[in-house]
Amino acid sequence: MKFSTKAIHVGQEPESVTGAVTVPLFQTSTYAQIEIGKHTGFEYARTQNPTRFAWEENLAALEEGIAAFAFGSGTAAVDTVMRLLNAGDHVIMAEDMYGGTYRLATKVLERFGLTFSFVDMRDPANVAKAVTDRTAMIYTETPTNPMMTLTDLVEVAKVARQHGVLMVVDNTFASPYFQRPLTLGADIVVHSATKYLGGHSDLVSGIVATNRDDIAERLKFLQNAVGAVPGPFECWLLLRSSKTLAVRMDRHQSNAMQIAAYCASHPRVQVTHYPGLPSHPQHALAQRQMSGFGGMISIELGSLAAATAFTKALKVFTLAESLGGVESLVCHPVSMTHGSIPKEQRDRLGVTEGLVRLSVGIEDVEDLLADLEQAFQHI
Ligand SMILES: *Cc1c(COP(=O)(O)O)cnc(C)c1O
Repeated sequence: MKFSTKAIHVGQEPESVTGAVTVPLFQTSTYAQIEIGKHTGFEYARTQNPTRFAWEENLAALEEGIAAFAFGSGTAAVDTVMRLLNAGDHVIMAEDMYGGTYRLATKVLERFGLTFSFVDMRDPANVAKAVTDRTAMIYTETPTNPMMTLTDLVEVAKVARQHGVLMVVDNTFASPYFQRPLTLGADIVVHSATKYLGGHSDLVSGIVATNRDDIAERLKFLQNAVGAVPGPFECWLLLRSSKTLAVRMDRHQSNAMQIAAYCASHPRVQVTHYPGLPSHPQHALAQRQMSGFGGMISIELGSLAAATAFTKALKVFTLAESLGGVESLVCHPVSMTHGSIPKEQRDRLGVTEGLVRLSVGIEDVEDLLADLEQAFQHI
């Protein structure tokens, strides 16, 4: 089965009692048992929920994994993945990544005895150099938020194999429609389902997929033992969103391609970061490991004053955190999403006060281009 057919059908057989073609919302905390020691396979909803199981089966199929586990947020998903490790273990993490993941690592997980090295993952040699005898995991995000840099997943997976360590990829920006890390050598894929998987800016959720039986078993245990599960309604909404993931991603991408090209030639824009542009330093890698470039673009406007004037003047783009919804959003990473990353590190990465991130929605591209043009005039 191909991608869209899987998205619409896997985990979503018509329901057995009434034939409902949509997976019902099982909004329950517990299930009646037949007699002591005898039940239907459903005992308590932290452990088992049919709506959640349907969503997990669906996403596992889209990522070409064997199992997936849903969580209450992307951050909860990352946290549970980290609980595969033990105190004293070392993790090699991408230095350019979602601020909340960096905060979880440095402000929470280090207190429990994990250690982290943050490296520039653009060069797989940096990853190999950072391996120690305590290294247990390589964790990356590609493309990254907000600088749109890439990790060569095949090459970094080789390093992981060679040293027998887990490789985890945050696939939030690309979605499984454009990139499937498990097929490129990763062991675990993480998503903030709040973004493209949800796609309508109306829920917060997370999900993890794997293609290894041993990891699936441990994640299943941790999902129940730690308990950061989503409610069934989120899973129900995610199943509905999954059905349109392919058509939404195609439109995000075609709109973003036109907007990136427009920004790249605009006099008010100093740099346009978008992996779909031939000028992107890793464009060839993007073509190799992704089947599309997604809907996220970052532009450098040169100063906080320019970023402020520009974002204030936009009318169709809404100034807000988050991304991946049908509506276009604009965000100022330094003040909004990346405040927890130290200034020296931000400066090194290029996350400056003049940097603005666009989450290109699926509106008519002419309206988006006109909105950007009038806002550039206010700089
Ligand atoms: C938003 C985001 C997260 C965190 O997910 P939440 O659902 O907000 O907890 C993790 N990684 C990336 C790349 C994100 O964009």
